[in-house]
This record gives sequence, structure tokens and C-alpha cells, in this order.
Amino acid sequence: MIDEKLNEKLNEKIKRTEELALAEPENSEASDSIADLVRRMLVVLGENPDRDGLRRTPERFEKALRFLTSGYHQDQDKVLNGAMFSVCYDQMVLVKDIEFHSLCEHHLLPFSGKCHVAYIPDKKVVGLSKIPRLVNMYARRLQIQERLTNQIAAAIQQKIAPLGVGVVIEARHLCMVMRGVEKQGSQTVTSAMLGAFRENIQTREEFLSLIRGK
Ligand SMILES: [Zn+2]
Repeated sequence: MIDEKLNEKLNEKIKRTEELALAEPENSEASDSIADLVRRMLVVLGENPDRDGLRRTPERFEKALRFLTSGYHQDQDKVLNGAMFSVCYDQMVLVKDIEFHSLCEHHLLPFSGKCHVAYIPDKKVVGLSKIPRLVNMYARRLQIQERLTNQIAAAIQQKIAPLGVGVVIEARHLCMVMRGVEKQGSQTVTSAMLGAFRENIQTREEFLSLIRGK
């Protein structure tokens, strides 16, 4: 059973996320397009934005960035609604190795990796294909890995109130790799464990060993 405090905490977390998503960009009347700004940035970097290779780069960058942040225009209700089913199944549901790509909000550089999501249903399950979509929705925003992990767990907790949710993310951050801060091949691992995954060591161990057993 979900205790009320947890639900309240999740609600607050999600509300903050929504506020972030809905925040209007400041001074939107000074509407430089992203492409305009990139053109100016190229000049500041000492480049000639009119040379052949760079001429269409600002537009290409804008298009890419809009795709990589398209998660701001989606919400978990739309992604998950219509994909929740009632069942009599109370064993762990695991979707592992969900590939994702996100952008670190501190450097606007990619971090990528794998996300593993598990839950133990309490009467309701969510369509399996929706879980990778949920991961993508939150990944395609400016993120830190810890928040991404929490948001995915909170969304599932809120939508189907399972007995527990576990989310583990293993990722490599280009901002660290490219600057040599991170040793080659090393990964950052974050996890969010709710309900049974937090309280019951056996449940958590089962989840972790299923992830490891590749
Ligand atoms: Zn970074």
C-alpha cells in the first residue's frame, strides 16, 4: 500500500517538474531564434558562420536541439493513459536495457546509457511499450541523471500505484568523458527505489540480479 506521505512527496516532485516545463522563456519578445544565437556563438568562438561547412549549421543545431528537448511538450498522462490494464499478477515486471540519450543541464552535452525499470503491480499494469516512451519523455529534456531516475519512478508510482518501483540508470556523461574527468569506460549509476523495492531487501536483490544477469 502506498502511504500518504510518499504520495504527497511524489505529487510535490511532479508539480515542480511541471512548473519547470511550463515556465515561459524570459523576454520572449526579444525573439532571437536559436539558429540566430548559434550564428552569433560561432562568431564569438572565432569561426566564420558563412563558410560552406557552417552555413546551415545553426538551423541544423536548432532542429536537433528541439528534438532532444521535445520531452517538454509531452506529459506522463498522455504517454501512459489508455495503456493501463487491470490484471491479477503480483510478480515483478521488469523492462531492462532501455537505451536513452539525454542532455546534461550543466553543460548542455549528452549523457547516454541504459535504464532499467521494474515494478510489482497491485491490480494494475502499464503497457510494456509505454515504459521506454516514458523514459524518452523525461530524457528529452535538460536533465541531471538523479532527477531523471526519480521522475521515471515517480511517474509509475503515481499512475498505477504499484507495490513498489525500482529504477536504475547507468550512463556516461560526455561532459565528463570529453574533459577527461571520467575514466574511460566508467559509468555513473543512479537508482530510485520505492515501496517494496526500498523496504524489502529480497525484492531489491532480485531486481538487481535480474539487471546484472545479461
Ligand atoms: Zn555535464
